[in-house]
Amino acid sequence: MAFDQIIGHHRQRQKLMDAVKQNRLAHGYLFCGPPGVGAEALAIELACAVNCESGPGEPCGQCRHCRRIRALQHPDVHLLVPASSAPPPERSAGPPSRSRESPARGNAREERRQGLSSLLAGDPYVALPLGKNDILSVDDIRSLRRDASVKPYEGRKKVAIIVSADRMNTAAANALLKTLEEPPGNLMLVLTATRSRLLLPTILSRCQPVSLPRLPEAEVKAALTGRYDVEPDEAALLARRSEGRLAEALSAMSEGGLRLREEAFALLECTHDAPPLRLFEQVESLAAAHREEPAVEQILDHLLELYRDLFILSAAGEPSATGESSTLSSPERQIPLQALASGMNVLDIERGIAAIEEARRSIALNAHVQLALLVLVLRLRLNRGSTGSRETHSRAAPSHTPPATD
Ligand SMILES: [Zn+2]
Repeated sequence: MAFDQIIGHHRQRQKLMDAVKQNRLAHGYLFCGPPGVGAEALAIELACAVNCESGPGEPCGQCRHCRRIRALQHPDVHLLVPASSAPPPERSAGPPSRSRESPARGNAREERRQGLSSLLAGDPYVALPLGKNDILSVDDIRSLRRDASVKPYEGRKKVAIIVSADRMNTAAANALLKTLEEPPGNLMLVLTATRSRLLLPTILSRCQPVSLPRLPEAEVKAALTGRYDVEPDEAALLARRSEGRLAEALSAMSEGGLRLREEAFALLECTHDAPPLRLFEQVESLAAAHREEPAVEQILDHLLELYRDLFILSAAGEPSATGESSTLSSPERQIPLQALASGMNVLDIERGIAAIEEARRSIALNAHVQLALLVLVLRLRLNRGSTGSRETHSRAAPSHTPPATD
């Protein structure tokens, strides 16, 4: 799907367009914001503005440059996406490769990279399914430097878009730093990042920052109805859940996204009443099904939303006729959630939210996914016992407590 205009970020876009028209572009930009707000879309838009036949300035969207840049097939616009260096599972059988950059591994990496790029070419607002192993390597930056040393083939300026620049390893960052220190005259670098604190300060100081905040809910809703043909009611719900990240709403719409919501709810129900062994099995199957951490992160995000719903229902007390459903992220589950909320108080819910946040942090910091999830469900379960029934606690009490006398 071709995109006709940028969603939101009107002020940031305007400033960039002015810089293009007045020929005072920086050599390097850093588009930074939460994931899924459209940093890549804006980077592609800027590359069009620089090279459009009717420009430089507002891109027409129709000329050969605009069309090829948007399709990510322009010889002067180099898009660099992180890719995994791990061989794909089907090739890992057979004798182990001796060299780190064996041809098979290099090919697998290139295939993965092309797959990710074509997702972005299809829709620059798509959520890229990047995992822990998807990184930018020093070879990637070197090939970019080689490419940049040649004059533009067709356009006015070479543009290198480095997607998720916060996934550069140290060697790659140092190589990029050289390019930023002595930029070839016709090259503009646009970095996108969600965690700019992971970038070297020397890189940060050489890029002009463009901060891209979360999109207003109304803009996400309008984009969903206008561009993706989503029914207004569903769009309103998806926009509310997305918290200003369009890509989040898009992936929630997908079949996989719906399944992850189901799994989050199953996990919540499990922590409520399943025996410990069942809880363990649930975590084991979850961790086995989702080896890549983005899915686990999404499940935890959904779990947080469910806890937010529990909070609303618990704070509202008795179910009301007017209903809290309009503020819930899962209104279709109001009845089972109400039942769960009735056994909890606000403190239980607050502790639950803190436990989920902590699990998210530790998984982001490379903790063992299965163990982190197990700790989480045990904490959520224990938490429920703290104020609801005391049964769990008294059973777990040490055996040397003196017997009650009658
Ligand atoms: Zn054009």
